[in-house]
Amino acid sequence: MKTRSATLATIMKRCLRKRCPRCGKGCLFEHWYTLFDRCRDCAYRYESSAGDTWAFMYMTTAALTGFIVIAMFTLHPSNTWLGLTFVMLAAVSVIAGTLPLRKSIAIALEYIISVQFDHQHADEKAEQTHDAPHSARGTNDKASFI
Ligand SMILES: [Zn+2]
Repeated sequence: MKTRSATLATIMKRCLRKRCPRCGKGCLFEHWYTLFDRCRDCAYRYESSAGDTWAFMYMTTAALTGFIVIAMFTLHPSNTWLGLTFVMLAAVSVIAGTLPLRKSIAIALEYIISVQFDHQHADEKAEQTHDAPHSARGTNDKASFI
């Protein structure tokens, strides 16, 4: 399955192209920042629950704002109002302009975490099945067929 064989670099390349992190074919966005609910090629649901990516979006916005504040303190324009206007326009364009890319990165990170969690969960289940007493294992096997 492609999901298990995709490397971290492959997934990040897909997110930079604003494509589905699982298959790399489907577009993430219907419009500039309007996210499709699912991938049109592999049906992967981009946000499994609403607001899964808000923390990443919030933190990256805060980081960009921090860079802008640093720029405001380090730059000494000859005309203060012109400098402040330039910094404010740059801030708005950087923060708003990177929204789709940051959302794409957040979706890719969520995908990587969910795949990793599924692998760990499957490994734990396999260990529990392997370590279970013989009689209990037989009971579980019978229950799974019902
Ligand atoms: Zn897909």
